[in-house]
Amino acid sequence: MRQHIWNVILTALLLAPTMSLAGGGPGHGVVSYNDKPRPVANLTQSPVPNPSYSAVFFDESYPDDPAAKSPAQHLGVDIPVPSGSAVLSPVSGVLISNQTDPDDPWNSRVVIRAENGDEHVLGHINSSIKAQTSIDIGDPVGTILTAGSGPHLHWGVNTIGVQGAMGGGWGWGRAPVTTTLSEANKKGWIDPRSLLN
Ligand SMILES: [Zn+2]
Repeated sequence: MRQHIWNVILTALLLAPTMSLAGGGPGHGVVSYNDKPRPVANLTQSPVPNPSYSAVFFDESYPDDPAAKSPAQHLGVDIPVPSGSAVLSPVSGVLISNQTDPDDPWNSRVVIRAENGDEHVLGHINSSIKAQTSIDIGDPVGTILTAGSGPHLHWGVNTIGVQGAMGGGWGWGRAPVTTTLSEANKKGWIDPRSLLN
């Protein structure tokens, strides 16, 4: 009998941490970008090799960028690369949207949804890949056009969904100039460099 009681106590002690982790049950709280599973760094690669950055995520100098059409906050990184350079998918997933037009480089972009749900925007590129095409990490998904200050890739990452984050002055790469970093994070935008080694 005494042995049985000890088994019960031991089982309770072993289960306790599991139960507390599950506290709240399904639907508890709001899923923020911090709560979502993140890919390990080596599952995201740079969309162009050896990137240098002409503008970073929420770059302090971006609102004063003379090449921009109007002052704004930057929701991704800009990587200068020669026009026509290949752009590689930074993740495996599905290309969910192709809104590219070589005659409109400023607005051209594709969106690739990674296997963990993150959406990667690759902007100022041309692409012939149809929406709903499966993509492997490193696959060529387009070529660089010339937009703004010169040919560059805009790379943005949204952990919730790009389409839902747009509107009310928010684009796929730029936010109203009064936007704070915290507000951008709440809409799912994160620094793409945080996913690289
Ligand atoms: Zn940009």
